[in-house]
Amino acid sequence: MNFHCGMCKNGIVKPTKGEGRHLRYCAFTSIPIPDDFEILTCDCCGETYTSLKTEEDLHDFQTPIYFKYIKNRIQKALDSILKAGHDTVTIEKSLRVARGSVKKWLKQKEPTIKEAELRLLEVYAEHPEILEKYKFQKTFKLDLEGRIVEENKT
Ligand SMILES: [Zn+2]
Repeated sequence: MNFHCGMCKNGIVKPTKGEGRHLRYCAFTSIPIPDDFEILTCDCCGETYTSLKTEEDLHDFQTPIYFKYIKNRIQKALDSILKAGHDTVTIEKSLRVARGSVKKWLKQKEPTIKEAELRLLEVYAEHPEILEKYKFQKTFKLDLEGRIVEENKT
């Protein structure tokens, strides 16, 4: 199973365990790798070689951690917004999501909130005063050029 490293040409690549390792999970997030999880690693340059199976196993380990992180972010933002005196209906109208979405996200094992929605929720948490401006669900009537001819608050 051991082989010479294709990156540095010097080291030997072999299954390696280790502490403090992280792996990129998605664009902005890396998540720990279990200490006893073996990954083919070069003993010279540290280059890692993973198979699809290895990546799938790691993904299975990392996914619940990632969604804990997402739920923590939702809860933290929600706490600040509610503390500032707004309610979840106002939040949902502002985000233009269905009524009950906030509650649903917190109940789901893998919340379906989109990253952009979560970021906006965090912006509201930091600046709850702007919710006043966006708390109405507006509907728009357009002309043939896509310009607004009429808007209504609901
Ligand atoms: Zn190497």
